[in-house]
Amino acid sequence: MSTGVPALGFGDQVPSASAPSAVEAFEVRANPAPLPVAEREAALANLNFGTQFTDHMARAQWRSGTGWLDRRVEAYGPLSLDPAAAVLHYGQEIFEGLKAYRWADGSVWLFRPEANAARFNKSAQRLALPQLQIDDFIGSIEALVRTDVEWVPSGDESSLYLRPFMFASEAFLGVRPAQIVDYLLIASPVGAYFPGGIIPVSIWVAQGYHRAGPGGTGDAKCGGNYASSLLPQMQAADNGCQQVLFLDAKEDKYLDELGGMNVFVVRADGSVETPRLTGNILEGITRSSVIRQLEDTGRKVLEKDITLDEVRSGVESGDILEVFACGTAAAVTPVGRLASPDFDLTINGGVAGEVTLAIRKSLTDIQYGRAADPYGWMRRVA
Ligand SMILES: *Cc1c(COP(=O)(O)O)cnc(C)c1O
Repeated sequence: MSTGVPALGFGDQVPSASAPSAVEAFEVRANPAPLPVAEREAALANLNFGTQFTDHMARAQWRSGTGWLDRRVEAYGPLSLDPAAAVLHYGQEIFEGLKAYRWADGSVWLFRPEANAARFNKSAQRLALPQLQIDDFIGSIEALVRTDVEWVPSGDESSLYLRPFMFASEAFLGVRPAQIVDYLLIASPVGAYFPGGIIPVSIWVAQGYHRAGPGGTGDAKCGGNYASSLLPQMQAADNGCQQVLFLDAKEDKYLDELGGMNVFVVRADGSVETPRLTGNILEGITRSSVIRQLEDTGRKVLEKDITLDEVRSGVESGDILEVFACGTAAAVTPVGRLASPDFDLTINGGVAGEVTLAIRKSLTDIQYGRAADPYGWMRRVA
């Protein structure tokens, strides 16, 4: 079931602070009408995911022949797009997701942004979009976060969510890679994922649908993967579950991942397992960080094929004690229930497990500067 796509591994040895940045190349054109301070403060006091955006956005445009031009930060606002823009017809689009974290001393930090840059380029290659150099990727983020630094919230477990994306903007209905491509970066303040304490999610096993197949776009972060996950996600909701778990497309037997998070299981012997990178799974930066931290606390971590059957029997027999999911948005989230037409399992009594909570804490402690960062994962931006 492997497609032989090399994993990124995210260059574990390179400290994030030494990744290059072309921040100076982004010309800042200040928004003449930013949100009044009182309104911004009101917005920051009442955060809902993905609804509020900062005063500016960063952008650049690529044309075949000339490469990337017009790097700038400008007022956030609607785009003007030709109705024939290829992205609207054929979905040639990719994105990333990362966060800027405000520490208790007021400073603002990114978590492994060079890993997002590497994955962005891997996704770009798969979707036949141009490469964006790492210094432009990090430079756009630094330019925007510094311009809109007042928008980085300081509440407990809050952050500024950053959404870089790239799409085919050329007006052309022929089916070929676009020759004009736009890169944009927008930012949205977000509150704690679990404002009232950590509540495990319920998961439905997708029936009759898959997220990605061998040789498809499963290991690219592209909008199309999300579009095709919406119907199975509705199925999950119809069955009283919050998230959907996808099985592999070839045998319909192995765990792939959730719609937007990677998945782990914790065995009774203390070892931890996660699906190996088959090319159908998105290689999460949180996944990579969790594996590293678990190994450094002396745990055995196996990246392997995991069947749904063995998860079911493991939970029933007590050999699997915990299941958790991870991704940038939620960090680490416990799974309390796994259901399908054939079974309805409660995991760890429906409450967050010890290993899940410990790994969540050790990861977020680094991100928020509450613990030392022995890996060089954090990069100061402001
Ligand atoms: C983004 C994403 C993840 C999580 O990746 P992180 O880098 O940890 O945020 C997992 N699965 C899918 C499908 C994703 O798009």
